[in-house]
Amino acid sequence: MAKNWAQPVTTALRADSQRIADLDTSSTPGFAGDKQQGQTLLSERGVVLSDLQERLFANGRTGDKRSVLLVLQGMDTAGKGGIVRHVIGSVDPQGVDHTSFGVPTEEEKRHDFLWRIRKRLPVPGQLGVFDRSHYEDVLVARVHELVPRAEWEQRYDKINAFEREVADAGTTIVKVAMFISLDEQKRRLHERLERADKYWKFHPGDITERGYWPEYQKAYQAVLERTNTDYAPWYILPADHKWYARLAVTELLIDALTGLGLDWPPADFDVEEQLRRLDAS
Ligand code: ATP
Repeated sequence: MAKNWAQPVTTALRADSQRIADLDTSSTPGFAGDKQQGQTLLSERGVVLSDLQERLFANGRTGDKRSVLLVLQGMDTAGKGGIVRHVIGSVDPQGVDHTSFGVPTEEEKRHDFLWRIRKRLPVPGQLGVFDRSHYEDVLVARVHELVPRAEWEQRYDKINAFEREVADAGTTIVKVAMFISLDEQKRRLHERLERADKYWKFHPGDITERGYWPEYQKAYQAVLERTNTDYAPWYILPADHKWYARLAVTELLIDALTGLGLDWPPADFDVEEQLRRLDAS
């Protein structure tokens, strides 16, 4: 267990039967340190994550079929972008496959909701990152009735079957649902309206969506109850403290990669012979 953690992050954050509405979004489950200790640890653990990701990438180059997929979900301003910049940003970009899923295009709408998702699954050796995902099809689609109830109701089972298939093909799936309080979201949206360098992140629609907060909580609750499986577990991440959210996701990825037991791939050439050749060249 990493320094300052009183409990493994996987235990502290693993979704169980808890109610989202009761979650303290300013808590730091499992972590015994303060912000400064958390930030120091984040830079140390970023190095560990980077080493493990390079091993994954190296093994992918030499025939290992495995990959890792991080699925990030959260309301606007929950900090998904910060996770991508500060956690994923600490690893070699050539081994990362990042996709943001926005409103489906006309072409995407003509296909099954998983069509665009399948196309972006990580190939062997890659760390895939989904910034929003197929879960939007049971979140925004449910809250705004973009499809009839009978259709989104079936999607939970379809998602479970799909993730089973992805996991069986060698992808370790880590799903993180980030939660902030309504007040914290207001503060973050305020900041976007007060700083010229943040206007680009602001969408007037984000304020409209705040009016649907209870509906989103209900939709998230259903996701966590119906798609939390052993092969694709959900982690519930209180995200008011950005430093904690970033540290926790770093630890979740370290845990997932460590679980793969990755060694460096052995040389497929005679090292001594190549050294002799090099010295003589
Ligand atoms: P973010 O808030 O994630 O940083 P953004 O606000 O800049 O992103 P986009 O990434 O272009 O905007 O799109 C996000 C929007 O797309 C969200 O409002 C989300 O609900 C919506 N969206 C994503 N997937 C779907 C879907 N399957 N159906 C409908 N809307 C979707």
